[in-house]
Amino acid sequence: MIEANDLTKRYGGTTAVRDLSFTVRPGRVTGFLGPNGAGKTTTLRLLLGLNAPTAGTATIDGHPFAGHPRGLRRVGALLDAQDVHGGRTARAHLKALAVSNGIDRRRVAEVLAEVGLAPAAGRRIGGFSLGMKQRLGIAAALLGDPPVLVFDEPLNGLDPEGVQWLRALLRRLAAEGRTVFVSSHQMSEMELCAEELIVIGRGELIAAESLAEFAARGTSQGVRVRADDHERLASALRAAGATVVTGEQEPGNGPLTVTGLEPGRIGELALREGIALSELTPLEASLEQAFMELTATSVDYLAGEPR
Ligand code: ADP
Repeated sequence: MIEANDLTKRYGGTTAVRDLSFTVRPGRVTGFLGPNGAGKTTTLRLLLGLNAPTAGTATIDGHPFAGHPRGLRRVGALLDAQDVHGGRTARAHLKALAVSNGIDRRRVAEVLAEVGLAPAAGRRIGGFSLGMKQRLGIAAALLGDPPVLVFDEPLNGLDPEGVQWLRALLRRLAAEGRTVFVSSHQMSEMELCAEELIVIGRGELIAAESLAEFAARGTSQGVRVRADDHERLASALRAAGATVVTGEQEPGNGPLTVTGLEPGRIGELALREGIALSELTPLEASLEQAFMELTATSVDYLAGEPR
């Protein structure tokens, strides 16, 4: 379990993270979302003890993580995949990490196979693509078989096959009972693998809830309706207080988009008018829309004013 309690981090006049509190529980993938500059990397660095908070505390399984010997057995982290010694081979890099963390060297071959880098084990990291470096960073995080995993933008640089592979890996690690905390600035990256979300903007908490709860925050996009007499239905719905937009692509015949009335009420009104409906579809707001709406003010603020 990861806990942040009133975390604040200031860099000179910039407050990167402000009074941030949240809990990340084991057994599910938790997405850590926010626009660029929202404070995600800063928060992860505070959790991992790589920077000291200005105020507040961060704990992993109840203890601050800073300077813990053999840390890779407790927490596996991928922060900056580019931050590796390019002159070493992938195998040598992982062996050095295993030795300094008291981990059996046999794990090196296992994690290289796990991330699909076995064929490149003897190649120098300097020649790796960003996607390969991401895989190597994930291998390093898995080396100590830790109960807690923290990944900063791990999907960056992965090809579509790599993205699918990583989503499945994250879900499996969570299903094994681990705490899996994964940052991203794009909701689309998270919606297929995260069950829980922590959303921040301008260093402050915006939401901490399940994906389903978050999706329900999006403004409803209305109801799509097709009927045998659009004109008469539209006037009946308008008379009942709805806003009706007629489809423009198929004049006269295109679907109506109705807002301000529940689908059940639309059905009742159609029945009363003797109009047959051939479609009645609630249009859900996408997660991406909910994310954009909720973080819009923090983005505007960032772009428009000095902090
Ligand atoms: P994210 O990971 O969400 O993109 P960051 O945590 O990298 O956001 O950055 C949050 C804010 O803190 C940004 O305004 C960034 O410029 C600032 N910041 C981050 N690290 C430093 C630092 N070492 N010195 C000064 N400002 C920093």
